[in-house]
Amino acid sequence: MGLFFNKYFKVLLVTIVLCTGMFSFYAPLKAASMYPLQTKYPDIMLYKGKPNKKVIALTFDDGPDNRFTPQVLDVLKKYDVKATFFLLGTRVQKYPDMAKRIDEEGHVIGNHTFWHPELPKTGVENMEWEIKKNEKELKAVTSNVTDLFRAPYGAMNDDLVKKLGEMDYRGVGWSVDSEDWKGLSSKEIKQNILNHVHPGAIVLMHSAGDWPQDLSGTAEALDELIPYLQKQGYEFVTVPDIWP
Ligand code: ZN
Repeated sequence: MGLFFNKYFKVLLVTIVLCTGMFSFYAPLKAASMYPLQTKYPDIMLYKGKPNKKVIALTFDDGPDNRFTPQVLDVLKKYDVKATFFLLGTRVQKYPDMAKRIDEEGHVIGNHTFWHPELPKTGVENMEWEIKKNEKELKAVTSNVTDLFRAPYGAMNDDLVKKLGEMDYRGVGWSVDSEDWKGLSSKEIKQNILNHVHPGAIVLMHSAGDWPQDLSGTAEALDELIPYLQKQGYEFVTVPDIWP
């Protein structure tokens, strides 16, 4: 028994030492690929823009609705800022006028599926159906066809990315999460963004949610964040501005 554990312990120790060595060797490589899908598929996936320009792309998921989307649009209009909205097909069907307003006010619209499924679980064929179904809804009410897609929960894998590329779509992630969907106060949302903001940032926010979700903090936070970051020299752009 004692001998067995002794041997086992030695093997374990050697393994740990080897692994630690390997890990420190690969550490710089690991740091470089914080967004492995962008590193692997730079033409199909974007999580953040190049850091050489003080630009920020605000992105809003899960809209449209008639509660929070109008508040967000009003604030963006106040500062003449253009953003990118990843819309859900079910809500485009329900609030076509709000989808039209987003389009008419010069924002970029992206596809965020029809039903909002967890794609790594539902699979490649389901993703294709979801994107095409929502594409139809978007074409029915807005002027332009988008090639931008954001996966629900940002959940993607190699197979899904490859299929996205075959469909001539590009996937957009984020590098700064406002966590506004948790119903946070405007102060907390502002802090979440300011703690992580950087040149080339893609910021995740929401312009709609399920009925119990309170997103009133989102528009309130924007009303302070936009002028504050503009004073710091930041310019607000759309996703195609940083990824033409
Ligand atoms: Zn979503």
